[in-house]
Amino acid sequence: MQTTNKHYDIIIIGAGASGLFCAMHCAENKNVLLIEKNNLAGKKLAITGGGACNFSNEDITANNYFSHNPHFVKSALAKFSTSDICEYYTENNLHYETRDQGKLFGSKLGAQRLTDSLLKNYLALGGHTLFSAAVTRIKKIAPNENSAHLENSTHVGNSGNKNFLIETEKGSFSAENLVLALGSPAWQKNADPLFNYCAKEFTLATYPFSPALSPLFATHNDLNLCINTTGNALTVRLLVDSKEIVDQLLFTHTGLSGPAALRASLWWKKDTPIIIDFLPTDTISDVFEENKQEKILIKTLLGYKLPKKMLPFLFTEKILLTPCNALQKKTRELIAETIHAYSFIPAKIAPLQKAETTIGGFDTQNFSSKNMQATHTPNLFAIGECLDVAGDLGGYNLHWAFASAFAAAMHLK
Ligand SMILES: Cc1cc2nc3c(=O)[nH]c(=O)nc-3n(C[C@H](O)[C@H](O)[C@H](O)COP(=O)(O)OP(=O)(O)OC[C@H]3O[C@@H](n4cnc5c(N)ncnc54)[C@H](O)[C@@H]3O)c2cc1C
Repeated sequence: MQTTNKHYDIIIIGAGASGLFCAMHCAENKNVLLIEKNNLAGKKLAITGGGACNFSNEDITANNYFSHNPHFVKSALAKFSTSDICEYYTENNLHYETRDQGKLFGSKLGAQRLTDSLLKNYLALGGHTLFSAAVTRIKKIAPNENSAHLENSTHVGNSGNKNFLIETEKGSFSAENLVLALGSPAWQKNADPLFNYCAKEFTLATYPFSPALSPLFATHNDLNLCINTTGNALTVRLLVDSKEIVDQLLFTHTGLSGPAALRASLWWKKDTPIIIDFLPTDTISDVFEENKQEKILIKTLLGYKLPKKMLPFLFTEKILLTPCNALQKKTRELIAETIHAYSFIPAKIAPLQKAETTIGGFDTQNFSSKNMQATHTPNLFAIGECLDVAGDLGGYNLHWAFASAFAAAMHLK
């Protein structure tokens, strides 16, 4: 057990995507300690994008982010673009490719390679790490207490200002600057207790964490449709809270999943409908018009366009067995509305353990959008997903982790 009371210019809590990126940019000029409760860095980063890591997107704007303070992301995104992170990839011989909708992915084991590269670069610059050491308490040191702490500690940094005392399972450390890169409880059950501790200690307002980029559970109205169509995927257009999403939808035995449903969960407001166009590339009334002389059954005609198993859960048997040439205008309109504007009201969003990100975190009003510094606590910073910023599916969350880390690092280094 390590019990030394060393002092650093910067201590970063959390060796995830944002913590690693910030640490690497600061270590060139400053003495940095990166503290992580896990036994290794980037546990979540290393599983992103199915192991390949969807690290950014060709088209990054503030519209791709949900925050209670939607303008907050603008400054950091303006200072750290897609080409900046691509440059890192190229300089470090990390291969990447562009996939659908401008998504930038690393190679097959790209997520682990990126994690290793960030840590390696940080260590090469003389950065310090402390793993398996959960931070349990942080104390702000008042200026008049500073000299007492100075006498009792080993000085590693360039600066003598001891603004924070950080207690871990492996001893205590002091720092002039403290960066919270705590992440969120996505993919877990609960947030680390340090999140609430910091909120109280530094009087930071918070929004409760809730799951986002997570599957949608169906109510009993749609459950049979979902159960009986489980495993079928189709490209749909969704309208959710006036956002339009065109992506793959997957039916599951509990509701809807796939990129379209995950993305909808980011914008969905409880008890409101998500409007689904199951056939965005066709207009069903045109299809009926082309076939108005034909005896072909509606069931057969629609079966060419949609998964056959869906049909009995969308339409009555009478409609499905009607020949196209006998279709009434009213029924035509009913079919068109069901196919192009199906109203799906989710029961709820699947829990945090299934979520790729969260809505909620430290209220961004507490921080400068330029450098992520706390407005009322100088030298305290927060970056990445512990802030109330959630990105869309497609590389936006990691881009935010890097952009916010970069904004803080440019101020700190
Ligand atoms: C399965 C999955 C796949 C994903 N895929 C993608 C993708 O392809 N593209 C994309 O853009 N986003 C993806 N995401 C989201 C992305 O992983 C996160 O947005 C990103 O990792 C957030 O980075 P962060 O540094 O803020 O938090 P994290 O990476 O979660 O890091 C926070 C770190 O802080 C540590 N920590 C917390 N409390 C303490 C404490 N008290 N003491 C010490 N250490 C502490 C944690 O252990 C953790 O290592 C995915 C998420 C999941 C769950």
